[in-house]
Amino acid sequence: MTKIDEPLYIAISLDIDPDANSAVKGRHDALSSPTEHGRVTFEACKRGLQKILELLDIFDINATLFYEARTAQMLVTDGVDLPKLSERHEVACHSLKHEDYLGKASGVPMEEVSIEESITKAKDLLEKIFGREMRGFRAPYTRINQAVVNVLERLEFQYDSSETVALGAKWKGCPFLLEKFNANLLELALPTFLDSKGKKMSSYFWAIFEGQRVSSEYIDAALRAKETAKGGLFIFSIHPWHLYVDCQGKPFDEEQGIKNLENLEYILSRLKQMQGVQIIRQDAYLDHWLLSR
Ligand SMILES: [Zn+2]
Repeated sequence: MTKIDEPLYIAISLDIDPDANSAVKGRHDALSSPTEHGRVTFEACKRGLQKILELLDIFDINATLFYEARTAQMLVTDGVDLPKLSERHEVACHSLKHEDYLGKASGVPMEEVSIEESITKAKDLLEKIFGREMRGFRAPYTRINQAVVNVLERLEFQYDSSETVALGAKWKGCPFLLEKFNANLLELALPTFLDSKGKKMSSYFWAIFEGQRVSSEYIDAALRAKETAKGGLFIFSIHPWHLYVDCQGKPFDEEQGIKNLENLEYILSRLKQMQGVQIIRQDAYLDHWLLSR
């Protein structure tokens, strides 16, 4: 669907999960760092989510919200009106308790039957909270395997958004079937791309908050993709908690928190003003792509 007159489509996606979450040896679910405390916390997530949703309203941007079901439930219990706050956005599934399905970090891979149990529960919980059907899925740690894909197909998800693919001559951001898993499931993949020095970069904003990248590098990436991936979808991703705590769970000082927010604001405002770009929810892009084939 690469057409000269088509814009580059850009999606802003949020992975809404516990503060500084991390897989833990010997267990399937994730805990907040430092994991020795044996806790999951949501304070930074809550604060970050409310701020980001405010910004998205200000910039009139519809986003895709991948909710971990446990986090959604905790925030609702905490008095946050998630359905109302999420109204204009797509709501999609980011697992039950941020399970490490493949056991890559936990050392305990999950059987297909327990993956099915936990994703079914997540989907049911989210559909109950939001009163909407879940069409999209993003796996914790963006890691999927044959078992996860089998489950997503059985549960009738329309798309997965966990795979990472290099944007370039071979892939211009369009959806594709997960043929390597013999599946009929569509993939809306996350892009990787090269920075101005030729170093590989991901579209997650975490590197800004960890002081490893600057926001203009993400704008440059969008500007380049605009020329090479017309009609394709370029997905950016954010963890709301990352505005206020680092990967180790250490709170940022106030000044850093403000800076993080300013960086995000800068990116959203630049993307919003960019010519030849259309910001879109992932489900809306999928509908558009299916219609135009
Ligand atoms: Zn996550």
